[in-house]
Amino acid sequence: MLYDDTIAAIATPHGEGGIGIVRLSGPGALPILERMFVPARPGAWRPFRMRYGQVQASGGARVDEALAVWMRAPRSYTAEDVAEISCHGGPLVLRRVLALALHYGARAAEPGEFTMRAFANGRIDLAQAEATLDVIQAKTDTALALAQAQLGGWLAAELRPIRELLLAPLAFCTALVDFPEDEVEPQPVAEPLGAALREIERLHASAGQGIVYRQGARVVLAGRPNAGKSSLLNALLRADRAIVTPIPGTTRDTLEETANLAGVPVVLVDTAGIAESADPVERLGVARSRAALAAADLALLVVDASAQAAPEDAEIAALLAAKPAILVMNKCDLLSEAGRQNDARQAFDALLSRAGCLPVAVVATSALSGAGLAELAQAIAAALLGGAPAHGDRMVSNPRHRDALARAAGHLRDAIAGHAAALPADLLAVDMTAALAAIGEITGDGVDDDLLATIFSKFCIGK
Ligand code: GDP
Repeated sequence: MLYDDTIAAIATPHGEGGIGIVRLSGPGALPILERMFVPARPGAWRPFRMRYGQVQASGGARVDEALAVWMRAPRSYTAEDVAEISCHGGPLVLRRVLALALHYGARAAEPGEFTMRAFANGRIDLAQAEATLDVIQAKTDTALALAQAQLGGWLAAELRPIRELLLAPLAFCTALVDFPEDEVEPQPVAEPLGAALREIERLHASAGQGIVYRQGARVVLAGRPNAGKSSLLNALLRADRAIVTPIPGTTRDTLEETANLAGVPVVLVDTAGIAESADPVERLGVARSRAALAAADLALLVVDASAQAAPEDAEIAALLAAKPAILVMNKCDLLSEAGRQNDARQAFDALLSRAGCLPVAVVATSALSGAGLAELAQAIAAALLGGAPAHGDRMVSNPRHRDALARAAGHLRDAIAGHAAALPADLLAVDMTAALAAIGEITGDGVDDDLLATIFSKFCIGK
């Protein structure tokens, strides 16, 4: 066992709840549990058997009525001895139970320390450890499916054969440095390097969509007053009421809400006024709206399709020129004849192209009747994902992994080019070693403590 101390923490969220859990991990888990928890029925502890009893203070006073379980190493979350005490979910009760555990010798756990131990003890790789946080924080079913798949360990499983492809050419190049060429058995270099590069590039390409599913995106609604922006925002949210997840801590300067649009968690930002205004108060709103636009991944230019295209539409379109944008022809319910819809479409198309704004899609909607909302949701998702959604849940979804894959690919390309140019073997070995190190940053092989500390500091205490 790597650690000789025992950590403890409240593993459930702050605040009041039906049940709260205090978790212990380490060699002292069972001895500490035995001192603070008195089972209703006497007898020895057996692993994975839940027992009913009382948490008692050292003087014998009852702290709470509880259930407790002991999990014997290595069959536990951390691969160490773990004890969990499920008591009433009140902050004061939980703090008292935790204080008792600390009194009997446990140490308060750092954020993510349980998961860190699971990684350090070799039960999971680093990508799996990170996936536990993604499971907890997933905002849509798709994001959750990706996180669960990553927790299952597919990424390391796919990286292992890639690593192995590199080991023989690396050994060969290293041997060439130390021994004369005729004493070293020749090994193919270009083929395994090329095969490894193709695999790394495939994984890297999957990150384009995976990261959008995991992190979501910001979509700003721009358009002149009365075009129907807030009606549209509300209609999109209503269409998806069941799976809307509030994101805490978002700014309220502009109205923003989170919706699940075809599996992508999207923060929809309604900008009040975005065009220039003489009124100083309105100008503040304009500044905020423009900041929201700058921070957005995609803009919806909402126009009233039943009204004439106006100079203000052109002014707003010009602001969007540098952004991917979708032209939303709202109030299409007021355009009963298809002919008038076409005319309107042509008028707005012409206006947009004069303003230098080339929309990636055009969707006719009615916030009132709900027409076109599903198409709009699909168009938003497709614009953010950069195409039709890929199938399956094996997508790289963590920017850290994507960056490491990009570096691995870069080193492999250098090695391949170096080999083609007949560069000395030691230079090729340097590139291959660097590629292996970049792969190791994903799986956690040979990573330094600073990187681990950064990763696990993002976790909550008790996880
Ligand atoms: P905003 O200023 O762009 O946020 O526009 P609002 O959402 O406040 O809408 C302005 C007016 O247009 C309101 O009276 C809405 O009921 C109406 N409206 C919005 N969307 C539609 C639509 O699709 N069809 C029709 N007929 N009216 C709409």
